Amino acid sequence: MSKNAVCYLCKGCGIGDALDFERLTEVVEEGGVSEVKEHDALCSPEGLAMIKEDIDGGVDAVLIGACSSRVKTDEFSFGGGVVVERTSLREQVVWCTSPDATDDGEEDRQMLAEDYLRMACVKLEKCQPLTPFQLEGEIYKSLMVVGGGPAGMSAAIQAAKAGSQVFLIEKEDKLGGFLNTIDKLGPQSPPYTELEDNPVAEMVGQIEASDKIKVFTGCTVAKTAGAPGKFDVELSNGEKLQIGAIVQATGWLPYDASKLADELAYGSSPDIVTNVEFEQMVKDGKLARKSDGEDIAAIAFIQCAGSRDQNHLPYCSAFCCLVSLKQAIYVKEQNPETAVYVIYKDIRTPSQSEEVYREAQRKGVIFIRRDETYPTITAGDKLSLEVNDVLLGEDVSLEELDMVVLATGMRPNNPKVVDAPLVAFGEDQEVAKKLTAEAKAACEDWSVLNLDYRQGKNLPTLKYAMPDSHFICFPYESRRTGIYPVGTVRRPMRLTQAIDDGVGAALKAIQAIKAAEAGCAVHPRSGDESFPEFFMQRCTQCKRCTEECPFGAINEDEKANPLPNPTRCRRCGVCMGACPERIISFKNYSVDMIGSMIKAINVPEEDDEKPRVIMLACENDALPAIDMAAAKGMTWSPYVRLIPIRCLGSMNLVWIADALSSGIDGVVLLGCRRGEDYQCHFIKGSELANVRMSKISETLTRLVLESDRVAVEEVSITDLHKIPAIIDAFMETIEEVGPNPYKGF
Ligand code: SF4
Ligand code: SF4
Repeated sequence: MSKNAVCYLCKGCGIGDALDFERLTEVVEEGGVSEVKEHDALCSPEGLAMIKEDIDGGVDAVLIGACSSRVKTDEFSFGGGVVVERTSLREQVVWCTSPDATDDGEEDRQMLAEDYLRMACVKLEKCQPLTPFQLEGEIYKSLMVVGGGPAGMSAAIQAAKAGSQVFLIEKEDKLGGFLNTIDKLGPQSPPYTELEDNPVAEMVGQIEASDKIKVFTGCTVAKTAGAPGKFDVELSNGEKLQIGAIVQATGWLPYDASKLADELAYGSSPDIVTNVEFEQMVKDGKLARKSDGEDIAAIAFIQCAGSRDQNHLPYCSAFCCLVSLKQAIYVKEQNPETAVYVIYKDIRTPSQSEEVYREAQRKGVIFIRRDETYPTITAGDKLSLEVNDVLLGEDVSLEELDMVVLATGMRPNNPKVVDAPLVAFGEDQEVAKKLTAEAKAACEDWSVLNLDYRQGKNLPTLKYAMPDSHFICFPYESRRTGIYPVGTVRRPMRLTQAIDDGVGAALKAIQAIKAAEAGCAVHPRSGDESFPEFFMQRCTQCKRCTEECPFGAINEDEKANPLPNPTRCRRCGVCMGACPERIISFKNYSVDMIGSMIKAINVPEEDDEKPRVIMLACENDALPAIDMAAAKGMTWSPYVRLIPIRCLGSMNLVWIADALSSGIDGVVLLGCRRGEDYQCHFIKGSELANVRMSKISETLTRLVLESDRVAVEEVSITDLHKIPAIIDAFMETIEEVGPNPYKGF
């Protein structure tokens, strides 16, 4: 081993009782690590002091055989310059195997531990110390917030409070966005029954008073080039800005109610209005019949007008119930005698907003529950309405209504999207596949940021044309690092939620700049100082890396040479898995490194009847699920060797070919769920792995091996209970197909 390496083996947590440390020491020494130290509890102050003392004395590579690399991360971090490799003797050997599992249970468990240490030695040898990527020249630390509505103003105010210079870009001639159109906010503070003042004036005042926020109104973004820490932005007014990170808070569009003409008679009477139009009437002090200015004696609010409806907006817009309750209270506060009806499918009033519902009831608002069928509305001098009341179980007629308010929902603020049914924007749905090319192209043609990226000028969107990175775990991330969609850009939400959202996005944007400055990754591999390096002499300009990178991190020059932008990179390794020339690698993760680890596994002879299976497991969901399963006392075959990988998308087929040609009996790829409810932290890792796996049959045919020897399984982090069954089923398959004939070659 070229490094000054020491291996530390922990005897705590039952490891010392289960394994033969003399033999483990021999294996490590054969792996090139000349010194092995044991400790009863390596993570104790004494254990850690022992390691630190060695590092101070010149040790630059540390192999820790103890618990999973997912735990005790702070304890076993020793700063840059020291290569640390951890192998899990606790979760992946002692906890997940039983000495009674096989005829040679103790021996099989020992062999498992020895293989993990062999693999760790190889990895330690091949890993290089990390040197964080440094952008050349000055790092731009200003934030650009695009959109001066509630979320954008909130992001700007919070970023400025945190000390950042902010450029706030608003296309209209004044700040405020949607806040300018509303009268009051719903209740926000105890007792959650009183309507509250619109905060727009106060927020605009804060922005105007801040010397850290420069506002551009009547202005849009003409071009955004560069990467986090180094965005060069051109505005429509010709101004050029140097920006570190971007918050996109460009709001929403009301659903086009003219599409509800058939179902809800919109357009047949001026007294049938949307919730947005009604709010404007209140704001303008004109709470009266629109047709003739007479008082309103009876009014009905129709909830889910076009929402949760596959023919219109398939989702709940999450704000319209509360808005209708607020507007019903407006009416009752103006005249308690007015008959106010709310016709709903479900009233959705989360947390304290349930009090608003109760307050509306107390004020005499009448609630009528309908089913999926819309009420029938007839327009004359007055309006009438028939609806099936599912609680009474009979049809109800409301006559002599002065107004009907349609609680319409939100759609993304992309004017081009309005021409296409939103349901069509879920990439993986059947209906999306039928979306006309023109509709998608029209949507993509319009852009807020006009990104100068090889992958297109927009933030990529997933379902319903909302920009999305990972809908469960990382709410603010887009698939363009350093650009944070916020508020109703990323999902439908209430005004007050959008204001809160602005705070989160501002902090994420500041973090992105700090990460660019430090040369490390943002979510989900926060703090990772590795980055992909390209051995360009062997690049064939095939474009696979630029096309498959889920985060648009790689541009291209005119000759199709990849131009990596490491501060855009999330360190997923998908490009590494994509590159047919295998010229992309990280200092601590490479095709060669994993391939060599696989080759380090000791494959017993066929006569030994000890199969060997490799499990390449995604470290984001599968690995934690496996660790948790082991921690819960679940056990599985000691013949399985687990190799964590950054993402199934980083998997290179050569690993499988290497494994099978070296006598490994089978390979399981354990990744995240793909498709519409995808779990992959890197968006499409499982899908890419599946595409690559479709090509594995060539390898198996060439090796004359059964296709059953390779399997792809999907798990989410909570699927720990499925782990033993998945492994057991695969081991049974391997038993059926028999030993790999390449053993011993
Ligand atoms: S590691 Fe992932 S994010 Fe980075 S360049 Fe490669 S594919 Fe793109
Ligand atoms: S995938 Fe590899 S060979 Fe192809 S363009 Fe990218 S770096 Fe070059």
